[in-house]
Amino acid sequence: MRFHWRRLRAGELDHELIWLLVSVATAVLGTAWLRFGLPWPRCTFLAVTGLPCVTCGATRAAVAFLAGDTIGAWLMNPLVAVLLCVLVLFDLYAAAVLIARAPRLRISLTHPSAWRGIAAAAVLVGLLNWAYLLTL
Ligand SMILES: [Zn+2]
Repeated sequence: MRFHWRRLRAGELDHELIWLLVSVATAVLGTAWLRFGLPWPRCTFLAVTGLPCVTCGATRAAVAFLAGDTIGAWLMNPLVAVLLCVLVLFDLYAAAVLIARAPRLRISLTHPSAWRGIAAAAVLVGLLNWAYLLTL
């Protein structure tokens, strides 16, 4: 895996702009949804099995996170809390490079099997998160 900084090429997808807009729009729409008292999402897996799925508690964790309660978010769903922290860092990075018109960080996988390792790590983290939720 190699990290490098470079300017956006002509015609290249602007991931920083797209994902910053998507995350901000999602936060605004999600906040509006809850402010208007619209129903919270229900988990079909929980309803059918009586067991939480890997994303159960994500909405409550996001609400706690947006209220500044990162510990509470962690306790409700650690994986979601970590992903929200990463998202905030990404949004700060994206806003900074967009405002400064700075070079963008790009990651190159130098070994063909790197994706398998990343996928295996993601599955392991998801399973650990699910195991935690099953203990609640
Ligand atoms: Zn669920």
